[in-house]
Amino acid sequence: MKRLDNYLGLIALFCSILLTACTVDNIDNPSVTPEVKPVENDMMDTSVKPGVDFFRYCNGKWIDALTVNLGTEKPDKQYYGFFPTEIQKTFDKNLSELEYPSLKVISKHFASIATDQAACDNIVEAAKKRLNNAADNGREQLWMTIGQMIKEGYPLPISVEMVSKTGIMGTMFSATEKIDYADQETTPVVEPGTESAIGAEWPMLKKICEGMGYDVKYCYLPTEVTYFGMGDEPEDMSMFVKGLSSIQACNPKTISESFGKALEKSLMNYYASSTDDTIDYNEYLMKEMRDGLLRYEGHRDYVKKFVKPEAKSSLKQICERLRKAYRKRLETNQWMSGDSKVKAIEKLDNITFCLGYPDTWYDNAMPDLSKTKNIVEDYLELRRANIVLMSDLLGKTVQEAEFNTCFLDLFPTLIVNARYKPDNNSINIYPVFLSEPFISSNGLSVEMFAYSMIYAHEITHGFDSRGALYDKYGSVGSIITEADKVEFGKRIQLLDDCYSSMEVLPGSKVMCDGKTTEQENIADLGGFLISYDACKAWLEEEMGIKGEELKQQMRLFCIAYGNLWRSKYTQGYVKLLIGNDGHSFARERVNGVVRNSDAWYELFDIKPGDALYLAPEKRAYIW
Ligand SMILES: [Zn+2]
Repeated sequence: MKRLDNYLGLIALFCSILLTACTVDNIDNPSVTPEVKPVENDMMDTSVKPGVDFFRYCNGKWIDALTVNLGTEKPDKQYYGFFPTEIQKTFDKNLSELEYPSLKVISKHFASIATDQAACDNIVEAAKKRLNNAADNGREQLWMTIGQMIKEGYPLPISVEMVSKTGIMGTMFSATEKIDYADQETTPVVEPGTESAIGAEWPMLKKICEGMGYDVKYCYLPTEVTYFGMGDEPEDMSMFVKGLSSIQACNPKTISESFGKALEKSLMNYYASSTDDTIDYNEYLMKEMRDGLLRYEGHRDYVKKFVKPEAKSSLKQICERLRKAYRKRLETNQWMSGDSKVKAIEKLDNITFCLGYPDTWYDNAMPDLSKTKNIVEDYLELRRANIVLMSDLLGKTVQEAEFNTCFLDLFPTLIVNARYKPDNNSINIYPVFLSEPFISSNGLSVEMFAYSMIYAHEITHGFDSRGALYDKYGSVGSIITEADKVEFGKRIQLLDDCYSSMEVLPGSKVMCDGKTTEQENIADLGGFLISYDACKAWLEEEMGIKGEELKQQMRLFCIAYGNLWRSKYTQGYVKLLIGNDGHSFARERVNGVVRNSDAWYELFDIKPGDALYLAPEKRAYIW
C-alpha cells in the first residue's frame, strides 16, 4: 500500500541542536543506600558458568520458562523478550488508551466517504486549476503559489524540511524524481555543491519560502556533503541539488501539470481508493494518519496521561552522570592524541539530550478539525498543522526545536526506542523511558544504571565509526585526527573480529556479522562501560560502598545488564536478520560486550580456557 505522506517523509533526516548546560550538581541525589542482594535472581541459570555463556547465565531460567510457540509463528514474530514483548505490551496498552480527538472526526469522514466523492473531486480540481493559473502568470507566481499551497497542507512533490546546523533551524528542499525535467526553458544555473543560503542562485526556493511565510534568513540548502540517512559515510548531495535546479529551470507549465497530477494521485489515495474497497483499507489509512500526521497530538496526550513530571529530571540526572563518566574515560584515553581528545570532549559536552518530551508545547501545531467536511479536508488540515509547527520553530533553540520536530519524523515518536542523531549531535530518548523500570520513584538503583546503558549506547554513537566523522555541531568533520585514525581502525577491527567469531545461537553454525553490526557493537560496548563507570562512581563516591560489597553490587550491575537483553528467538529469526540488521542479536549484545570488558573478568573470575575468554591483546579497547 502507498505511503500516506510521501513528501514530508524525509523530514526525519534533518533536525537541529543547541547546547544545554545542565550539571549533576543542582539535582537532588537520592540518598537511599542500595540493598546488597545475593547475586542471583529468578531469571538466572547458575548451573551455567558465566565464562561459558553469560547471556544464558543471566537469563537461562527465564528462557526455559517462556513457553511461546516458537515453531509455528512467522519468522519475524519469533522474537520475545524484555523490549519486543514485555515493555512493548505495557506501552501498547497505554497507547490504546489515548483519545486522539482528531481521529474521531477522521473516522466519521471515512464512514461518509461514498457521499463525499464529488466534494473531494472538487478540491482536487480547484487545486490543479490554481497551479495552472499561477503558471500562466509566469514562474515566479507559480513558485509563490506552490509555497502557499504547501503551507495550506497540499501534498506537492517538493517539500520543505527542517535541517540542523549550528543550532539554527533551517529548511531543506526535497523533490521527488517523478517530474519530467526534459522540458527546460533555461539551463540549470546551479552547480551541484553550490552553497547554501537561499540567494540569487535559488530564486525558486526563495519564492516558495516567501509563499510559505517563512523567514528566508533561516532557509538554506545543505552543503555538498551532509548526513543523509543511515549509510556509513556522509552523503553526497550533488544529485539532489541537480534535481532541484532542474525543476527550477523547468517550463512553468510542465511543473504545474506534473505537480497537479502528483497532487491528485496523492489525495485520491485517501478518498477514491476507499469507495469500493474494504473497510480495512480505511482503517489502514486512519492508522497511517495517526502514526504519520497526528504524532504531536498523540505524544502530548501520552505525556499528560502517563508521565510523571519528576521523571524527566531523574532521566536528566542519569544522563548527566553518564556524560561525566564518559568525560573521564575520554580524559584518560590511552590511544588518542591531545587534538583528538579535545575534539571528542568538546563533542561530548555539546551533545543535546532531548528527554521524553519538549519543554514547550505548541498549540498551533494541534490540528483543528471542527470545520472540516470530508476526508481530504481533514488530511490537508493535519498536514497544515505540521507545517505550521515547522514555521513556528524556525530560529528557535535546538533543544526546543529538536523535540518538537521529532513528531514530523520517520519514526513514530511513540516508540520503545532511543536514538542518536549525527547531524545535530543530539539524543532523543522517547517517553517510554520516563516510566518504570527505567525511572523509579524510589531513586537511583544499580538496575537503573544498568538500564542507562541504553542512553550511554546512544552517546557512544557519536563516537562510533560513523559518528566520529561529524564534529560537535553535527557537521561533516572528523573528531579523530588522521594519525589517530589508524589506531581507531585497529581497535574497531578487533571488535569486528570478536563478533564475527561468535556463533549466533549455540549449534546454529551461523556466525555473527561483525562488520554489519560494527557501529552498534561499538555503541553497546561503550554504553556498557560508561554506565558501569557511572554506577561505580555513584556507589563509591556517594554511597561510600567499597571492597567486596562494591564488587557484589557491580556483579549485580552486569547481571542486570544481561537481564535487559533477555529474549528468546529462533534460528529462523536469525536467518531473517543476519547481515540485514545493524544490531547484534541479544545474546551477543551481552556476551560480545562483557568479554571485551576487563572488569567483568575480575568480577566473575573468568580464566583462560573459558569459552568467552579473550586474551587482553584481543580485547577491543575503544571508548
Ligand atoms: Zn544503536
